[in-house]
Amino acid sequence: MANTNVVPKYTQLFINNEFVDAVSGKKFPTVNPATGKVIAEIAEGDKADVDLAVAAAKKAFHRNSEWRKLSPTQRSELMLKLCSLMERDKLILASLETQDNGKPLSNSIFAVAAAIDALKYYAGWTDKFTGNTIPAEPYVAQTRKEPIGVVGQIIPWNYPINMLAWKWAPALCVGCTIVMKPAEQTPLTALHAAALAKEAGFPAGVINVITGYGPTAGAAISEHHDIQKVAFTGSGEIGRIIMQAAAKSNLKRVTLELGGKSPLVIFEDVDVDQAVSIAHNAVFPNAGQTCCAGTRTYVHEKIYDEFVKKSVALAKARKLGNPFDATVEQGPQIDEEMMNKVLGYVDIGVKQGANLACGGKRFGNEGYFIEPTIFTEVTENMRIAQEEIFGPVMSVLKFSSLEEVIDRANDVEYGLAAGVLTNDINKATKFANI
Ligand code: ADP
Repeated sequence: MANTNVVPKYTQLFINNEFVDAVSGKKFPTVNPATGKVIAEIAEGDKADVDLAVAAAKKAFHRNSEWRKLSPTQRSELMLKLCSLMERDKLILASLETQDNGKPLSNSIFAVAAAIDALKYYAGWTDKFTGNTIPAEPYVAQTRKEPIGVVGQIIPWNYPINMLAWKWAPALCVGCTIVMKPAEQTPLTALHAAALAKEAGFPAGVINVITGYGPTAGAAISEHHDIQKVAFTGSGEIGRIIMQAAAKSNLKRVTLELGGKSPLVIFEDVDVDQAVSIAHNAVFPNAGQTCCAGTRTYVHEKIYDEFVKKSVALAKARKLGNPFDATVEQGPQIDEEMMNKVLGYVDIGVKQGANLACGGKRFGNEGYFIEPTIFTEVTENMRIAQEEIFGPVMSVLKFSSLEEVIDRANDVEYGLAAGVLTNDINKATKFANI
């Protein structure tokens, strides 16, 4: 496979269509989690750099700017041009993503394709926003949909190029301008995408990328008075901080996509082999670092033993290692801190009486890998059933009836996603509607 070790070309902040050093001159390392080695030194943006980026984005949003004068069709064309350039560079982007994030190269290639699809989808929406006319006798009221202005975007490290596309695409579609901060663990694909945006012809200031840390660069975005909206994906803890910062500054609008501890409920009428495979793939891809992962696996008592036996066998067969090796299914956790956090949860699970059926240990001594882990005999009072672990850990819980499992599945602080496996459409519908 080509381009396995692409050297990152862009390591500086991207402001007003130029790559520049941070005002402070500071840099931070971005590390390959499969090896623990530094890939590149990246410019460390802070408030001063966010101020420059916001000024550029504000100028680009001025009513007489080139960007504001583009028709919806022209905005769409620019977005599609960016898509073709991402397509041209897809192996570069995928290689950078795998080096920076650790996910297997085939997953990164798929991720880049999905990011392009998201941009294409929104490119199709640019000319389809309409308002309403409202018969408010004796008046006629009319609503218009307008871009809100400069938007701040703060994204996590688990799906970097997808997060970027999911945030850039809707904002560009409606004509906003952007100041984005990628996660400090994974800045590389965002900087490459920024270069492609310039090449595609986006006017200066429409897209700005500030690499750096959350409490500095991220906070400067969420506190900024000239940012009209902030879109954040990450932990609930930081989501709360961002909402407070938005409220304390200019009451900017906020959208938050936060954590999860999602149930996957498996009834007794399923094909067990198929259910085992679905449950496995609900937890382990991306090394378990997915917000909507189905990590609370509820299994009906009639198939519980068979399900556990087969799930353990499948987890043990999962291949870990160098994410550039085409046969590898699971890469490392994102960094040492996350690896230790996940291993800490394994200890907690054992201490609270869950049965460690497989895994639970670090894999190898280079990089931050963790063996696919399954806990059985889990109950709701255990922390591993309630808290987001964000690692390759499945918690299996036994249930006996639909009514019981609905209450138990809902008995958690999070509410991001849920899944049900059954061949009974009535059960599935009832479960989904409650
Ligand atoms: P995760 O647990 O996925 O790392 P975080 O919520 O810690 O999630 O981080 C998600 C994003 O939020 C990252 O880009 C990070 O730098 C940023 N971030 C962290 N702390 C803050 C903060 N205080 N203000 C704004 N952004 C922050």
